[in-house]
Amino acid sequence: MSANEFWPILAAPLCTGIALLLALGFRRNRAFMILAILFCATLGLAGAGSALLRERGVEAFRMFAPCLLLAAAAMPERRLLAKRNLLLLSLLALAILLTLSAPAHVWPGLRDAFPLGWLPWRSGSVAAGIVFAAALVCVLRWAVLRSPMEVALALMLLLVAIALLPMTRKAGASEFLAISGALAIAAILFVSYRMAFVDGLAGLPNRRALDEELARLSGNFALAMVDVDHFKKFNDQHGHAAGDRALKAVANQLRTTRGANAYRYGGEEFCLLFTGLRVAQASDACEDLRQRIAAMRVPIRASAGRKNAQVAKRKDSGTVKITVSIGLAERAEDLRSPGEVLKAADKALYAAKAKGRNRVISR
Ligand code: GH3
Ligand code: MG
Ligand code: MG
Repeated sequence: MSANEFWPILAAPLCTGIALLLALGFRRNRAFMILAILFCATLGLAGAGSALLRERGVEAFRMFAPCLLLAAAAMPERRLLAKRNLLLLSLLALAILLTLSAPAHVWPGLRDAFPLGWLPWRSGSVAAGIVFAAALVCVLRWAVLRSPMEVALALMLLLVAIALLPMTRKAGASEFLAISGALAIAAILFVSYRMAFVDGLAGLPNRRALDEELARLSGNFALAMVDVDHFKKFNDQHGHAAGDRALKAVANQLRTTRGANAYRYGGEEFCLLFTGLRVAQASDACEDLRQRIAAMRVPIRASAGRKNAQVAKRKDSGTVKITVSIGLAERAEDLRSPGEVLKAADKALYAAKAKGRNRVISR
């Protein structure tokens, strides 16, 4: 084996193996199933120290991996030891067993039968076609779920489909699988980072991200606490789903606030961080935000309200207004730490609430 062939053949099990461990650690069980199949395929392509495997590796990859990958891609995300996952892992174990122990006179028969031996194409093309279908399944799932992990899985499977094409050399196949494994590592880390630091509903960085940002701050900054007015009543009248839509709409307005980074602080409270600015400059942006939110119309459905039967009776399936109150403070001689500025902004917010809501108050 030349050096050009040695590295991809070593890198492929290494990358998919690391991705497999990450998927296990971060409980990405569907990705784990796909990676388990790919990891075994990379070991097969590498020969894994067995003369028999060196001989049968490429064939076994084409025979068994495609259908297993299609099944794994089509499965819902379940706990690792769910029945379906165990069944798939058993089929994978059976494929490994057949590859390692099928007698020499049985192997050609098996090779002609898998996958879909009755199809007229060469097995590499059929195998690539099946994995391409698995990639399409992930694209469809992305269209529904909008999860970035699905995009990564679709790209990974596309690389695997290329690796399976008849014209791809053995070392080339390992290269594609190594890139696929590296992509899986990046995707799992990215998705896990997002889960830890980005709020799923609002799509804004969360309080943990804000705390980290505040700890890094130096120089001037202003901080605004933004709280939706009478939001409990909104939920009671129009339902939790409409409340969620309202929070998303508020978050979208916050995202476009001039000179600020927006965070979801918790519940119906948000925070704007104006790095390098003072209250005098930030208050205009806050007032503009307040007006934009007050001008919004949040869509509601008549039957959504639980407590207020009148809303349902009126068949009021139109839109409703919401408002926010904003408290603003800046770093000053008596407010040195970000924690003190945040407290002062919170105090200003309560003053805005006490004065009748739907207003900006600066400390
Ligand atoms: P105030 O004007 O004084 O802020 O009154 P409020 O009703 O907005 O404040 P309160 O703290 O009493 O209620 C906040 C409500 O926000 C209660 C909770 O159900 C709702 N809420 C918090 N997080 C979410 C969420 O993610 N989705 C929805 N729909 N509601 C939420
Ligand atoms: Mg509120
Ligand atoms: Mg609140």
